[in-house]
Amino acid sequence: MATDSRSTAPARIDRRKSTRAPRDLRTVARSAAAGLDMGPALVLAPGREKSSHLRHPWIFSGAVERVEGDPASGDTVTVVAADGTFLARAAFSPSSQIRARVWTFDPQVTIDAAFFSHTVARALTARAQLFDAAHTAARIVHGESDGLPGVIADRYGDVIVLQCLSAGAERWRDVIAATLTEATGARCIYERSDADVRALEGLPVRTGPIQGTLSDGVAIVEDGISYAVDVVHGQKTGFYLDQRDNRRIVRRHAAGRRVLNAFCYTGGFSLAALAGGAAEVLSIDSSGDALHMARDNLARNAQLDATRARWHEADVFDELRRLRDAGGTFDLIVLDPPKFAPTAAHAERAARAYKDINLLAFKLLTAGGLLATFSCSGGISADLFQKIVAGAALDAHADGQIIAHLTAGADHPVALNFPEGDYLKGLLIRKR
Ligand code: SAH
Repeated sequence: MATDSRSTAPARIDRRKSTRAPRDLRTVARSAAAGLDMGPALVLAPGREKSSHLRHPWIFSGAVERVEGDPASGDTVTVVAADGTFLARAAFSPSSQIRARVWTFDPQVTIDAAFFSHTVARALTARAQLFDAAHTAARIVHGESDGLPGVIADRYGDVIVLQCLSAGAERWRDVIAATLTEATGARCIYERSDADVRALEGLPVRTGPIQGTLSDGVAIVEDGISYAVDVVHGQKTGFYLDQRDNRRIVRRHAAGRRVLNAFCYTGGFSLAALAGGAAEVLSIDSSGDALHMARDNLARNAQLDATRARWHEADVFDELRRLRDAGGTFDLIVLDPPKFAPTAAHAERAARAYKDINLLAFKLLTAGGLLATFSCSGGISADLFQKIVAGAALDAHADGQIIAHLTAGADHPVALNFPEGDYLKGLLIRKR
């Protein structure tokens, strides 16, 4: 098959090269002198070690001069500079443009069960304050930013949903699952390794329980509001934990306001607005299943006034136009669309879509009204997003003031050496 030959060819060429390159001997000799266990190695092209010196966790295929040894997908490789200097230990991914993802920059650290147990424990300790009776869900492992590239773990009460999104994560999946169970006492570790990025790593989709069972369904409490989470069929791992702090902000501003929640999914911002005393909340999503769960979620919370909520299954782009044409107005609008631009290559089309919905939102907002607008697109920077929203206001003949810059919560940290982790950006804007 064409794909197979593409993915195996580079490794073959690299191995052939490695048998005659005199630099190999130097690399091995140096490492042996340093007392390091080399194993298979990625030797970078001259000058390509800079990003490793900055501790960026990705080694791109273009930076790799050759592969020494015969590593399989997910195997640990030693990354060395062209002059043989140790740079990192990383997981090899033969078919991805990101040829390796770094586990450690410390030559003394070996990649084994103890490494995962230590790294997971560190991630859990950092989040210990986030859990109590009124807060039972949070992301507990956030990939590269927690030192575990490609590993996502979301905790929903006593259930953990695990995503293995890289060859290295795949290779260590059972060890990571066992570590998570041991460290948290979770009754079930459920795998949702069905994100599109798995294909780039040459990995098939895989979902299902790794340990335990889901028998009783999954429910969480966020800021005192109860939600059921469909970890089996829901989007991503089942719930958008990254918006927790922003739901809290919307709740704080909702009192007495007529709220529009566009792209509402299972009702997160809608229920938060009701809890904050919103006069009414209209929620729109194109997914009937999500709206069904949203209604059920509202019913779970007897403290919220369900008569103030309306749910509408529609395309947001169409529905905002219809509302505008009907002369509708709102005092608080939430726009939390799906990822329009996964990479910078999609940025232009995505920019048009963001501008469209934000322009319509500015038209629907009353003077003094608030817009909480988001982009979770990796391909759209915070700077660009702000420019798009400013352009939308201009075209809508609206004046606005940014009153807060919004991001994901503390359970989605962004490592300083990994700016790519900063994918969620939002603005809270007051229309003048
Ligand atoms: N704000 C939500 C998460 C939103 S996820 C929360 O806090 O939980 C994005 C949602 O947009 C998904 O539920 C998806 O079904 C919906 N969606 C995607 N494209 C849409 C469209 N064109 N019109 C309406 N809904 C859309």
